[in-house]
Parts: sequence; structure tokens; C-alpha cells
Amino acid sequence: MMRDVRLKVDMVARGAHGRRVVRPMSPRYITIHSTQNYTAGAERHSLALKRGALRSPRRRGGNRIGYLIWHYTVDDRVAIQHMPTSEQGEHADFDGPGNRYSIGIEMCEHRGSNRKATIERTAKLTAVLMKKNGIPLKNVVPHYHWPRRGKSPANKNCPHFLMDNGRPGLKWRWFQGRVNYYYQRLE
Ligand SMILES: [Zn+2]
Repeated sequence: MMRDVRLKVDMVARGAHGRRVVRPMSPRYITIHSTQNYTAGAERHSLALKRGALRSPRRRGGNRIGYLIWHYTVDDRVAIQHMPTSEQGEHADFDGPGNRYSIGIEMCEHRGSNRKATIERTAKLTAVLMKKNGIPLKNVVPHYHWPRRGKSPANKNCPHFLMDNGRPGLKWRWFQGRVNYYYQRLE
């Protein structure tokens, strides 16, 4: 199954940008996002992270390091890992549990990409990460799951194409089914 995922490891340098502060993590959740970037695939997101181009204002109770970062970006061709799953990212809920305890996966949605292929690759990667880290299906959550203090709405419509009316519903349950389908097929 990992062969189908086509995982490429291309880490942001330790000590730089989104990894300037290394904060250890034992992952208990997997958080699924979509980029809402209609022009860039996984490679371009990887480059942007490595160059430190994805900044976010650092503030008390908000972004903790001044950069955005997450663990994996998936598109219809490849999955790229940007940081170890033993380190906290900055993708979900500032200083909340989504950042402190979850592996962040961003799905690309650039024009011309095959969304079904991106979703299936994401489901396979998620299943492999569940197995590797002992994470149950109920702890595979959409970004929506983590309220963001000081934001309105607190619960983001993310990944928007797997939400119904901005919240988890039938589409999200379908995605959970795809993850479980692959999980049951792992050795
Ligand atoms: Zn998100």
C-alpha cells in the first residue's frame, strides 16, 4: 500500500522556518485538511515550506512560531512528508490539542488535479499512519474538529469538499469508510 501512496520524504531543515522550534509529539490523532490553494500541488507546497514562505503572525494564543507547517501534503500523483511525525506542526488550532497531538495532512485541490485520486491516496496514507502509531479511526478527524480560539467561525469548514454545509456529515462518513477499507487491508 505504501507503494501506491508514492511517499517522498523531503523535510524542512531541522531548526529552520516551521521547524525552528522542535516540539516533541506522540501523535494521537490525524487531522485532515485541504489547502484551498487552487494553483499549487504537493511539490510547490513542499518548496514553499522549505523556503519558509508560509508565514503566519505569531501571537499569544495564536500561531506559536510565526510559520505554518504540517506533516504531509498529498495530491493526485504523490505524497510528500515535510517534518517527522514525532514533532508538532502548526496547522490546526494554535496552541490547542490539534497541533499538540495530531499529524496534519493537507490535500491539494489545484485546478486540473484529480480529486478522487487525491482523496484515495490520502485515505491510504492515513490508514498506514493509523497502523504505525496505534491511532483508532475515531481519532481521524477533519480540521473542523478543532475549534480555533479567537476565530469566527471557531470550527473551520475544512476540508471543505468533505464537509456538508460546513460540518462533518455524509461525505465525511464516506471518507472514514475509505480509510477503514484500506486499514482493514493492511497486514
Ligand atoms: Zn485546515
